[in-house]
Amino acid sequence: MSAFWALADGRVTLSGPARGPWPPEPGVSMPEETRRTTPRLDPRSPLVLDVRELGRRPGSMRPLSRSVPAPAHLGLGVLGVPEGSDLELDLRLESVVEGVLVSGTVAATVTGECVRCLDPVTSSIDVDLQELYVHPDREHGGHAGGHGRGRVDDGFAEDEEMAALPQLHGDLLDLEPVLRDAVVLALPLRPLCREDCPGLCSECGARLERDPGHGHEVQDPRWAVLRQLGTD
Ligand SMILES: [Zn+2]
Ligand SMILES: [Zn+2]
Repeated sequence: MSAFWALADGRVTLSGPARGPWPPEPGVSMPEETRRTTPRLDPRSPLVLDVRELGRRPGSMRPLSRSVPAPAHLGLGVLGVPEGSDLELDLRLESVVEGVLVSGTVAATVTGECVRCLDPVTSSIDVDLQELYVHPDREHGGHAGGHGRGRVDDGFAEDEEMAALPQLHGDLLDLEPVLRDAVVLALPLRPLCREDCPGLCSECGARLERDPGHGHEVQDPRWAVLRQLGTD
């Protein structure tokens, strides 16, 4: 049990944006973020996983390996995973008391532009995923068997933490938001076509790679005067 909590705590860096209070106060329109997280999931969507076979007995585990097409706009601007390219999911689904823990890696191809020469760049990334999807019907606060967690009994903080986690929708869970957050974190900050890309000439924009001896004569007026003297 404590191992799962350690994992759940470790996922902090992969957590999505904080969601609003749940349930929303009556009369207050739901923020966009909340509305997006409570749709009916489409079981045919490649990033919607069906966990029915896993069952709800804590401890049961199923591996999940499959290749699915990447959704649109996975990444940041020009740097990202091309829509429809292969995402290789290599995941492990584990039933825990609170819900289903998803962990593993996703391999993807990233395309973008070299920051120095603007040539197209293609590289592959391996993204670590770890997320706990909670049962929406789970009891609040210390349910039976809350011992052995090795945590200070702080039901409030724990509930807050749980409320921020994505939920299971029946037997379905939506991997996409978690994947999006993880992919953005895994993108190279400064993509390069190669480590020592010489880039472009700052004077004229020429590609230095194609013209290694490229340079510009320094147009210093004092030299021009000397040259003139020399020719007289
Ligand atoms: Zn380059
Ligand atoms: Zn130049």
